[in-house]
Amino acid sequence: MERVLVSACLLGRKVRYDGGAKTSEDELLAAWNAEGRLVPFCPEVAGGLPVPRPPAEIEGGAGGAAVLAGTARILTPDGDDVTEAFVEGARRALDAARAVGARVAILKEGSPSCGSLRVYDGTFAGRTTPGQGVTTALLEQNGIRVFNEDDIAGAARHLREG
Ligand code: SF4
Repeated sequence: MERVLVSACLLGRKVRYDGGAKTSEDELLAAWNAEGRLVPFCPEVAGGLPVPRPPAEIEGGAGGAAVLAGTARILTPDGDDVTEAFVEGARRALDAARAVGARVAILKEGSPSCGSLRVYDGTFAGRTTPGQGVTTALLEQNGIRVFNEDDIAGAARHLREG
């Protein structure tokens, strides 16, 4: 049974910046969870950030690849630079995925760590822009496909078809 890395907040863990979860009601995800296939992981907590914590966005609406390349930072609304913790969390997520041989991850859309199609634009005005979070970028750079919570069928297809 192939293992799948999943954002811990999608599985009901209260690890989000605001102290809450974003529990998915997806039936396939629930079935996989019951089978013990899922590996819950929160990159931001693994990177050393507390719960709750200030929100954070990638400056300039850049993507996670720019953060990994050292050309964009991740900041809180007060301007605190939390880039290092986010990058450390991404590295640990990659280690966790590799440890179980995962080829697929299902990560929460919109997060500066876990987003796969969009991230917030760095202005803290609630606007998103196309792009990936830091963990998603690192996983995909290393051959692990990332799907969001609205495309669990896509993850299943990838597991089936490779
Ligand atoms: Fe969820 Fe990812 Fe944010 Fe952790 S970093 S709370 S797993 S979206």
